[in-house]
Amino acid sequence: MTTETHKETLGFQAEIQQLLKLMIHSLYSNKEIFLRELISNASDAADKLRFEALTDNGLYEGDSDLKISVSFDKENRTVTVTDNGIGMNRSEVMENIGTIAKSGTRQFFESLTGDQAKDARMIGQFGVGFYSAFIVADRVTLTTRRAGLGAEHGVRWESGGEGTYTLETVDKPMRGTEVVLHLRSDEDEFLDGYRLRHIIHKYSDHISLPIVMKAQDKDEYEAVNRASALWVRPKKEISDEEYTEFYKHVSHDFEEPLAHVHSRVEGNQSYTTLFYIPKRAPFDLWDRDGRHGIKLYVRRVFIMDDAEQLMPNYLRFVRGVADSDDLPLNVSREILQRNKQIDTIRAASVKKVLGLLEDLAKNDKEKYATFWKEFGRVLKEGPAEDYANRERIAKLLRFASTHNETDAQDVALEDYIARMKEGQSKIYYITADSFAAARHSPHLEIFRKKGIEVLLLSDRVDEWLMGHFTEFEGKSLQSIAKGDLGLDSLEDQEEKKELEKAAGELKDLTAKMKDTLGEKVKVVRVSHRLTRSPSCLVVEEHDMAVSMQKLLKAAGHAVPAVAPSLEINPQHPLVMRLNNESDAQRFADWTHILFDQALLNEGGQLDDPSAFVQRLNDLLVTLGK
Ligand code: ADP
Repeated sequence: MTTETHKETLGFQAEIQQLLKLMIHSLYSNKEIFLRELISNASDAADKLRFEALTDNGLYEGDSDLKISVSFDKENRTVTVTDNGIGMNRSEVMENIGTIAKSGTRQFFESLTGDQAKDARMIGQFGVGFYSAFIVADRVTLTTRRAGLGAEHGVRWESGGEGTYTLETVDKPMRGTEVVLHLRSDEDEFLDGYRLRHIIHKYSDHISLPIVMKAQDKDEYEAVNRASALWVRPKKEISDEEYTEFYKHVSHDFEEPLAHVHSRVEGNQSYTTLFYIPKRAPFDLWDRDGRHGIKLYVRRVFIMDDAEQLMPNYLRFVRGVADSDDLPLNVSREILQRNKQIDTIRAASVKKVLGLLEDLAKNDKEKYATFWKEFGRVLKEGPAEDYANRERIAKLLRFASTHNETDAQDVALEDYIARMKEGQSKIYYITADSFAAARHSPHLEIFRKKGIEVLLLSDRVDEWLMGHFTEFEGKSLQSIAKGDLGLDSLEDQEEKKELEKAAGELKDLTAKMKDTLGEKVKVVRVSHRLTRSPSCLVVEEHDMAVSMQKLLKAAGHAVPAVAPSLEINPQHPLVMRLNNESDAQRFADWTHILFDQALLNEGGQLDDPSAFVQRLNDLLVTLGK
C-alpha cells in the first residue's frame, strides 16, 4: 500500500504517556537498567527467530550466527543496540511499541498511589521494558525488519516520548532490530566503552548469545559476556547476583526473587530446571489467561514461553526455565499436552518447588511468611488440583486461628495438632466471608469455653479447599458449623446431663418453633454450642455450608435448597422468654427473629429484610413498655 510508505504521526495510547513520566521519575536512580531491558528484548527476539527457523530455515537468510551488538557514537551522542533476531513488521511495531497489551495494565494504573517509592516498586514489577530507553534518551529511533520479508519492508519508529511517534517504511537489508538512543544532555556517561561493558557484565552476562562490542582501538568486535546459558552451568559457579539477574530477564520483574531452586537430572531422561519464586504477586495472578511463566527449551533452543504444561495451576506464580535434552525440537503445545516426557518433568518440577517451599517454611520463616502473604491463596488450590501431593501441600498451608490475637495466617496444621486437647480427635475450623465474621461467630462459643483452638478461614478459596481436604495425618477436619462436633469425649458428664434435661423440658418449644419456621429449617433443637448467643444455624454433616451456598449462588449456580437446622441456647433469656410466650403472633415473630439473626451471623442473606426489621422494632417497643 502506498500510504504505508508515507511517514505518519500517531498518538501513544494514553497510558503510555503516564507510564513514561512515572518511569523516568521513579527509575532515574537506577537508570543504567535501560541497557539490560533492551538486551533482554534482543535476546528474546533471537530466541523467537531460532524457534521459527526450526520449521522455516529460510528465515535465517543465510546468517544463523545470532548476536547482539552494543555501540556508541560520541559525536552524535547515541547508544545503539542491534540484534539480528526475528524483527517486527509494521503492525507488530504498532501493537508492541505503541500500546501496552499486557494483562493487568488496568489494575496496575488503579493501584498507583502517588507515593514515589511505592510506585517505583510497582512500576518495576509491572515491567517497563523498551520504554526504559526514555530514562536516558530524549529521542529513540527503532528500525526493524521482520525475518523473511524483503529489505523494502523495514519500519522505522521514532519518538521523543512526548505523546506521539512517527512510523515510516524504510529499506533495511539486515533483518532484526536496531534501537538508537539519542541521549539526553546530561547522560554522557554512557558514551564510554568501559561503562557500557561494566553494565553488560553486571546485568546481562547470563544472556546465552554473544553481546559484542567494538574492541578498544581496533576495528574488531568481541564478545563482552560469557554467552552461555546460565542454567547449564554448575550451580557452585553461579553467584547470587547472576541468579538474580537471570530471574529479572526471564520474569520481566525488576525486583529480586524470593528464592530459587536449580537442578539437573541425568538418566533415562535428562533435563535441567531453574525455578524462582517471586517476592510479590504479579498483577495478573488472578487473570484466567495470565502468564504461566515457565520457558521451555530443548537442548538450549528456546521453544516457548508460558509452557503451562510444566507447572500446575496452583504453582502458577513460579517463574523460570526447563531445558530438556530429549524432547523433539518441533514440539508444539498440542504435543506437550500428551507427552510422557513432559509429564515426568512436570512431576519432578512440582516436587522441586514443593521442596523449596518446605525448605523456606522450615529454615526461613520470614521469607515463608512473605511467600504465604503473596501466594498462599494460590497454593490453597493445591489439594483439590493435585491429589498425589496433597499431604505435602497440606503441610505448607497456614491459617489464622483462635490461638492468635491477630488475623495473621501463620498456623500450620502440625502446630495445631501439637496443641490439641487431650481427648480431641478432630481439627476444627470455621469458614466465613471475613476474618471478623469468622472470629465473632457464635459457633466459636463452646470452643472458647473449652479452650479448644479453631482455625479461622475467610479467603474466598477456603470453602473450595475444605471441600477437597477432609483429613490430615489421620485427623479429620471438621467445620464447627456442621453436624455433630465430636466433642463427646471432651464434654463433662454434668454438662451433658443438664443439656439432656433442657432438651426434654424445651421439647414443646422446639417443636412449636419448627412448626412456625416450616421448610426453612430441618429441625429446631437445643444446642450445646452456645454460651452467649441465643441461636445459631448448623448444617448436617454432608450438606453444603451456608456460606458455600451463598458463594455458589453469587457465581450464578443453581443451588439445591438445603435447609439448615436451628439450634437454640436454653440458658439465654430470649429463649426462656420465648418459652413462656402465650401470644401466638409474638411467638412467631420472635422465632423468626432468632432464625434471621442466626442466618445473618452465617453471612447469609435474609429473604425479606424489611420484615426482619419490622419484627425487631416491634419487639423493641414491646420490651420498652
Ligand atoms: P516486554 O518485553 O515485557 O514484552 P517491551 O515493552 O520491552 O515489553 O516490549 C514489547 C514487545 O515489543 C515485546 O514483547 C516484543 O514483542 C517487541 N520487541 C521489543 N523489542 C524487540 C526486538 N528487539 N525485536 C523484536 N521484537 C521486539
